[in-house]
Amino acid sequence: MENNNLCWCGLLATCRTSWTMDNPARRFLGCPNYLDPNLNCNYFRWVDCELPNQWYQRRMYLLHSNVRTVQNDLRVAQNILRAAQDDLRAAQDNLRAAQDELVQVNAERGRVAFFNKVLMLLVVAMVLIKFM
Ligand SMILES: [Zn+2]
Repeated sequence: MENNNLCWCGLLATCRTSWTMDNPARRFLGCPNYLDPNLNCNYFRWVDCELPNQWYQRRMYLLHSNVRTVQNDLRVAQNILRAAQDDLRAAQDNLRAAQDELVQVNAERGRVAFFNKVLMLLVVAMVLIKFM
């Protein structure tokens, strides 16, 4: 008995779906080696009947095209979102570095203020000693 699902290579034919304008949403069987032109035996057999009329064909084709457009838009939006997340992470890193720098600057300012007070006390002490 002949197995109708074998391609000319003797392999189990793979079922795929056509989305061409003439045959949208129509499944067919083909050689599993279809991606390799050296191995592809070009076996082809429709699984589904043709859609009843051109109106259905056109509608199915347009619906699928719209879905593809939405999927592409979604991919673009996801890429933009990923880039924005990367920018946000970089900005957060910069902010953390600036905060660390600010802490160091404030600590330095505190030390300078302390030494200024000590210096002022020494000057006052020297003036007092001189006039006593
Ligand atoms: Zn084959």
